[in-house]
Amino acid sequence: MIYLKTDEEIELMRFANILVSKTHAELAKHIKPGVSTLQLDKIAEEFIRDHGAVPAFLGYNGFPNSICTSVNDQVVHGIPSSKAVLKEGDIVSIDCGTVLNGFVGDSAYTYSIGDIPTEIKQLLKIAKEALYMGILQSVEGKRVGDISNAIQTHCELNGYSVVRELVGHGIGRKMHEYPEVPNYGKQGQGALLRNGMCLCIEPMVNLGSKRVIFEKDGWTVRTKDGKCSAHFEHCIAIHSLGPQILSSFDFLDEALTNTNS
Ligand code: MG
Ligand code: MG
Repeated sequence: MIYLKTDEEIELMRFANILVSKTHAELAKHIKPGVSTLQLDKIAEEFIRDHGAVPAFLGYNGFPNSICTSVNDQVVHGIPSSKAVLKEGDIVSIDCGTVLNGFVGDSAYTYSIGDIPTEIKQLLKIAKEALYMGILQSVEGKRVGDISNAIQTHCELNGYSVVRELVGHGIGRKMHEYPEVPNYGKQGQGALLRNGMCLCIEPMVNLGSKRVIFEKDGWTVRTKDGKCSAHFEHCIAIHSLGPQILSSFDFLDEALTNTNS
């Protein structure tokens, strides 16, 4: 069942997503060599709670922390750890969710730690572009496959691969609602996009092969070939005015600019 949201509900979703986006900005200030992913988790949890919300991931299906932190060849769902200390040249994908006023926000971003190799910079650029290409297709009357195909095509034309085992999703009062939003697919197929649908579009893009492995910790997903992977996610609403992006990278962009200047 797909739950369509009213404009009022979409505004509530926007609040939850703006808080996620501001949490990212808070994290962006602290992402540097020497910081552990567990330290980032604590910063995120405190920030979310200080703003009257609850971390959506904490306890979700038993997940032990407030954010997912996936370093280098980890694709998604990495568990924050004091042993995972970031170093120059790494990338870390941070996925964050909040519950605020009964609605869930969910957004992910892949950060670089200091200077990273040119080929990884290009991976991040294309993965982020693919997200926005998917969003451009998020128009009433189109289908989920139009989003999926736009993402897959942009990534594959640039020599990257998209993960098959994990997908984007509908979102609302629950973090995962229907429909699923794969990062691969055919134009004109899948669920019809209708006004009031809220979706998380989240390309997971691998530098090498699309194959992934699931680690024994029950969460971490890693590339099989050990090459890097990127993850960018926005929460959007299908709307008669065009796609409404409810999360925002503007806050973290500003924090990164200020931190690095
Ligand atoms: Mg997410
Ligand atoms: Mg998501």
